Amino acid sequence: SESGSSCYRVVLIGEHGVGKSSLANIFAGVHDSIDSDCEVLGEDTYERTLMVDGESATVILLDMWDNKREGEWIRDHCMQVGDAYLIVYSITDRASFEKASELRIQLRRARQKEDIPIILVGNKSDLVRCREVSVAGLRNSLVALTPSHVAACPGPPSLCLVTPCNHVSTLDFAEGRACAVVFDCKFIETSAAVQHNVKELFEGIVRQVRLRRDSK
Ligand code: GDP
Ligand code: MG
Repeated sequence: SESGSSCYRVVLIGEHGVGKSSLANIFAGVHDSIDSDCEVLGEDTYERTLMVDGESATVILLDMWDNKREGEWIRDHCMQVGDAYLIVYSITDRASFEKASELRIQLRRARQKEDIPIILVGNKSDLVRCREVSVAGLRNSLVALTPSHVAACPGPPSLCLVTPCNHVSTLDFAEGRACAVVFDCKFIETSAAVQHNVKELFEGIVRQVRLRRDSK
């Protein structure tokens, strides 16, 4: 394994309007009162060094999935360049969730030989009364997508795949570690509006990349 700070390219993908840019803005620290360490590399690229588990990691966050001006090639580009992916949907928008499942399959196909870390992000968790995607429904849907993975999982699927959103630590890496290797996807619910679980999301993706790095 390498020494010093590692640098990871993390790509935000998902339907328009689900909150990708809102999450990117929180990452970029535009809401921080004091000037932050974030460097804006372009209008949709942000770089920030995070301390995660006592080890620093530089994350370059790409939020260009919706950039229509650049044309369709940008999506192919996004599918190729990420070291890790945040596939975002809105819990208030069933269609965006179905799109997210589709993107997850597309991404696996595009990067077949690689074990790319993915976190499936159910954003807008503050809008509880408009929820269209339940956590239980999500689990069933994921199980349906990966029956062989479920069979191979040493623990209960509920622990590996989905931790209820009202838990403080949604990504439980102690219990999920073995399963994270088996499954190609982790799950978290966030709210960019009330900044719930957003820090955990970005720390989580760094941990997911490290899990793979450390198992090599
Ligand atoms: P993008 O198209 O995926 O980049 O989505 P945006 O970040 O532009 O957000 C789309 C809309 O959803 C904006 O009006 C945001 O203010 C709103 N939004 C984003 N995240 C949240 C959230 O967590 N909760 C709520 N209530 N609204 C959100
Ligand atoms: Mg956007």
